Amino acid sequence: MLRQIRDLAPMASIPTSRGRLTENRPLNDLTWLRVGGPADYLFQPADTEDLQAFLRDLPADTPVFPMGVGSNLIVRDGGLRAVVIRLGRGFNGIAIDGNTVTAGAAALDAHVARKAADAGVDLTFLRTIPGSVGGAVRMNAGCYGSYTADVLQKASIVTRQGEIKDLTPEDLNFRYRQTDLPEGAVLISATFEGPKGDPAELHARMAAQLKKRDETQPTKDRSAGSTFRNPAGFSSTGKADDVHDLKAWKVIDDAGMRGATKGGAQMSPKHSNFLINTGDATAADLEGLGEEVRKKVYETSGITLEWEIMRVGDPLIE
Ligand SMILES: Cc1cc2nc3c(=O)[nH]c(=O)nc-3n(C[C@H](O)[C@H](O)[C@H](O)COP(=O)(O)OP(=O)(O)OC[C@H]3O[C@@H](n4cnc5c(N)ncnc54)[C@H](O)[C@@H]3O)c2cc1C
Repeated sequence: MLRQIRDLAPMASIPTSRGRLTENRPLNDLTWLRVGGPADYLFQPADTEDLQAFLRDLPADTPVFPMGVGSNLIVRDGGLRAVVIRLGRGFNGIAIDGNTVTAGAAALDAHVARKAADAGVDLTFLRTIPGSVGGAVRMNAGCYGSYTADVLQKASIVTRQGEIKDLTPEDLNFRYRQTDLPEGAVLISATFEGPKGDPAELHARMAAQLKKRDETQPTKDRSAGSTFRNPAGFSSTGKADDVHDLKAWKVIDDAGMRGATKGGAQMSPKHSNFLINTGDATAADLEGLGEEVRKKVYETSGITLEWEIMRVGDPLIE
């Protein structure tokens, strides 16, 4: 196999900064599924000013891809023709004032939930989501009936031109696992307001949620969470009064795809809507198996499953 012929931006056109810039950086170890080819560049800014200066000086036609902790991503095997921006230590602070929690975009959802609970603020739904605050806002992450959209007051971004801007929930236009962010913008922090609660009770609730996850989902395996969205508003008879919601795992089971494999990829025997890397899967194995599942489900039920996992980058070409 050959790497796709790539048009790497010349180093001379990449601005210098106080952060860390790595050329041709494999992304597999930065994603939960542990797959993915290299980014042209990986940039880890030292702080907000550094990020602003970098984006301002980066040629306007160089694509930028902000990345959280890669828990909702398949990066394809040929990698990403972009400058991938990954925020680190300078962006993971958490500050709490009354019911208001402000967290850096690199802070992990679980840390935010725990710190908020210590202060008697209920952001418990974030506890079992393995992403970062940037990813939670971008994806409108949610579970157990609560979504990021329910608690977000404000998000701060650095625009592709290097300016800081505050966005309201209206600007973000939250939808199911989707928001509107200006092209190339990097979320740097978010402010949430959660209901008050008793710290001990909030911690007990989170412990129960973690236990439930471990019982029902392959939490110890390499996955990216739910592979497909639950098909909403499906009518098996085509009649408007027969519209009902379905569970993706159920239609995958009905299509006989629980446990199906392709190379090192598998639809988890524990939860059939979880695509897992059993050890040596490539991104092509994972995406290919997902596509086989979609085809089989369509053939057996007429339902078109939609991916929930984001797939980005280029495939390897033969
Ligand atoms: C075991 C498991 C369970 C999961 N359970 C849930 C669940 O219950 N509910 C749920 O909603 N999700 C769930 N997920 C999916 C995933 O954790 C969420 O979508 C999470 O919000 C992704 O965050 P991340 O930091 O990993 O983002 P990434 O996967 O790195 O990126 C996802 C998207 O966010 C964008 N992004 C990330 N950071 C920034 C930033 N700073 N600025 C701009 N854009 C950014 C990326 O460009 C990309 O478009 C689960 C995943 C796993 C592995």
